[in-house]
Amino acid sequence: MPELPEVETICRGLAQHCVGATVLSAFVHRPGFIRGGSNQSRLFTGLTIARILRHGKQFVLESSCGRVMLFHMGMSGSVTIHPFQSLRAPHVHIHWTLTQNGKKFELHHRDPRRFGYVHTYDTMSLVRKNAWSKLGPDALVISNEELFEGLKNRRCAIKAALLNQSIVAGVGNIYADESLFESQIHPLRKADSITLCELGELTRKLQSILKKSIRGGGSTIQNHADALGRCGTYQEDHKVYGRGGEPCMTCGAILKHALCAQRSTVFCSICQSKKPR
Ligand SMILES: [Zn+2]
Repeated sequence: MPELPEVETICRGLAQHCVGATVLSAFVHRPGFIRGGSNQSRLFTGLTIARILRHGKQFVLESSCGRVMLFHMGMSGSVTIHPFQSLRAPHVHIHWTLTQNGKKFELHHRDPRRFGYVHTYDTMSLVRKNAWSKLGPDALVISNEELFEGLKNRRCAIKAALLNQSIVAGVGNIYADESLFESQIHPLRKADSITLCELGELTRKLQSILKKSIRGGGSTIQNHADALGRCGTYQEDHKVYGRGGEPCMTCGAILKHALCAQRSTVFCSICQSKKPR
């Protein structure tokens, strides 16, 4: 599933190539993929893309007249730029033809597992009110205090809390496991048992990992690619995610598996303390 760094990578590519471009036409191949109205003007036909904003794992294209398309990437979503009249890969549910500086090109939104969608809105304030208000602060900028507030009275495991988008937006399985390992916190510890000091370390490590992953173009495990179709490289830096049964890179102990919030969780039982430090 694309997490914050993968979605940010896509947004940066789109910002470079699509801001200032005008949409000539939208082609919907799976009508159920579009929410909030799918006529041509709601899908930006005739409109110019003014800016791209991301919150957590979602992002929007905002037009110069204020209309917005919100992209939810689901489990396997990608948004990629292609030459005009390119062959479409299977599972492209909508594509657009755009023009910029007299040159036509296409934007393809592909989602093989179909958990994602595009939601059209009249204004950015409606996106904030109806969609982003349900999300916690963005993981890249959340403060210790905001995270502490979000975890207060949460009896669930810290790993489950990090995956809860209403507490902190943008973290999924990869970056939850990696940040808990780097901050030496056991993933199954109760969220409200994490001390403010540990939380400071967790926030710092999480944000440093997210930034490093963005610099590497995100993690490509199955199908993540940036807006130009290039794979990320941060999977080469994963210390625990996907490494269950292999030796810990810090202490050499065999990394363990657990199930947490229905997600496979990998950790080192030596390096990651079950008790507050
Ligand atoms: Zn270890």
